[in-house]
Amino acid sequence: MEKPVIGITPEVSVATTHVGPTERLQLNLDYTAAVSAAGGLPLVLPPDLEPPHALAAIDGLLLTGGGDIDPARYGAPTVHPETYGVSSTRDSFEIALIQHAIALDLPILAICRGLQVLNVALGGTLIQHIPDAIPQALNHRQHELGIPVDQPAHPIRVVPDTLLARILGTPSLMVNSYHHQAIDCPAPGLVITAYAPDGVIEAAELPSATFVVAVQWHPERLFRSHPTHHALFTALVQAAQRSRTHRHAALARTEKAGPRS
Ligand code: MN
Repeated sequence: MEKPVIGITPEVSVATTHVGPTERLQLNLDYTAAVSAAGGLPLVLPPDLEPPHALAAIDGLLLTGGGDIDPARYGAPTVHPETYGVSSTRDSFEIALIQHAIALDLPILAICRGLQVLNVALGGTLIQHIPDAIPQALNHRQHELGIPVDQPAHPIRVVPDTLLARILGTPSLMVNSYHHQAIDCPAPGLVITAYAPDGVIEAAELPSATFVVAVQWHPERLFRSHPTHHALFTALVQAAQRSRTHRHAALARTEKAGPRS
């Protein structure tokens, strides 16, 4: 059986090179390693692809971490001084890709910025800087506490009877954390599926879709040593495999029906 293809969105940044500023892709190999370990075939999606062409080539979508989303995308009147790393190229590509993928019911796993851009693409808003919005918040940047990012740092409570709860198989879990933004207003239809002890939203999903799961932490840094986090990638790849089978069956039925006049 052919492996399901998982499209992965890389970071887009402007690098200073010896010939001047150059727009470039960057992707931590933990993402491709996690997809490969789960049985998927990772395929990096450059932002100049038209979303329908990108989606025709893949069976599932992995939205990765990175810089902040332009606050204008969710109607914020000001840009917080701590907001950083905005790429209009990446924002535009990912928002269009998400909207097309959901219209096709393509499986999506969204990580960190991925959760945030999913929320924005569907009409939600973000907290631009957690310490200003929630004064009693935990420090969600564990590297500032000296905790390596491949180790869990704070607990989360998983909402029962959700897809996330079924995938993880546990009502609470330790996660890693290196984000300074979070979901503020969830988008219409998006359901919150996990919280940190300070109330910060740590996961969300879209029950109207077959498989749209979003987490604020980084399972790609934990999957090697923590089977519970590996389960997120296995669930994505299995959902992509089912989606692939359905789509190929539908295509075969169309071809059997003969050429259209
Ligand atoms: Mn966190």
